[in-house]
Amino acid sequence: AQRLFDPLREFAEQFTAIQAGFTALERVSDILVEPIEIRDPEVGEQGVPSVFPASTQTPGEIRFDCVSFGYKADELVLRDLDFTIAPGEKVALVGPTGAGKSSIIRLLCRLYEVTSGRILLDGIDIREMPQAELRRRMAVILQDGFLFAGDVKGNIALGENYSMADIQRAAEQTNVAKFIEQLPQGYNTELRQRGTNLSGGQKQLLAFARAAIRNPPILVLDEATANLDVGTESLIQEALETLLEGRTAIIIAHRLSTIRSVDRILVLKRGQLVESGSHEDLLAQNGLYASLYRLQMLEG
Ligand code: ADP
Repeated sequence: AQRLFDPLREFAEQFTAIQAGFTALERVSDILVEPIEIRDPEVGEQGVPSVFPASTQTPGEIRFDCVSFGYKADELVLRDLDFTIAPGEKVALVGPTGAGKSSIIRLLCRLYEVTSGRILLDGIDIREMPQAELRRRMAVILQDGFLFAGDVKGNIALGENYSMADIQRAAEQTNVAKFIEQLPQGYNTELRQRGTNLSGGQKQLLAFARAAIRNPPILVLDEATANLDVGTESLIQEALETLLEGRTAIIIAHRLSTIRSVDRILVLKRGQLVESGSHEDLLAQNGLYASLYRLQMLEG
């Protein structure tokens, strides 16, 4: 049921696919309140907004400045969120179901507009940023990766003009190259509906390659709750570590191993930030995080 009703998944597909006009093979739709129509900022004299194009290397600082948000005007689901994620810092969002983790990610990717406050990337309000610039700065990865119509190389390049060497390098960096090479037509293999010629874990690695080739300063990750296949688990961990290196990351983390290895954990409760700190700090505080953590430990 979780897979069928997952607006974040829907949205990540849109976010990733939008530039190439690709159609995802596996679609789900459960957006109760339709995302808003996002318009690019006013265009300046040269046909580009005045602050863009920005330099190709941006640090990747994320700042939520007193952000509140509701899908409906009279019902806030996020309240007064105030936090900064430093360039290169890895932050996990933790909290009970419905606390607002996915909503934070949707706002960050500008699927919805904030009700009040501002979201800044390297000091620039994302509402001032053309969509293309936002997508250049950020890759969204769902750990149960999805596939687009077409072949393997197209699924990595997504309509961009990357060389075969770039595509192969991205695949190698993310541990998916050897699986691709085993497919009947290698990088030219057409991916079947629902990706049945790739395992769940291999699809994840392919999604990593799709992000790696873009080399974005910021990664947004939603970790799959279920373990997909034991065979690729360690390859996924390793590829993820490589991918995270030197980038800012915001992760909806479900696995204990991921939570423990981040720099900081933001704990949400009913749309508010209630705790923030390292795994050890938060265990010592013995608050909501500590109780969620103990619960997970019990579940195995
Ligand atoms: P989490 O990711 O922590 O489980 P969400 O951000 O998905 O939490 O949800 C926060 C709140 O927003 C919940 O009360 C949820 O019911 C509500 N919500 C989520 N998506 C939508 C939507 N598309 N339309 C209306 N309400 C939504």
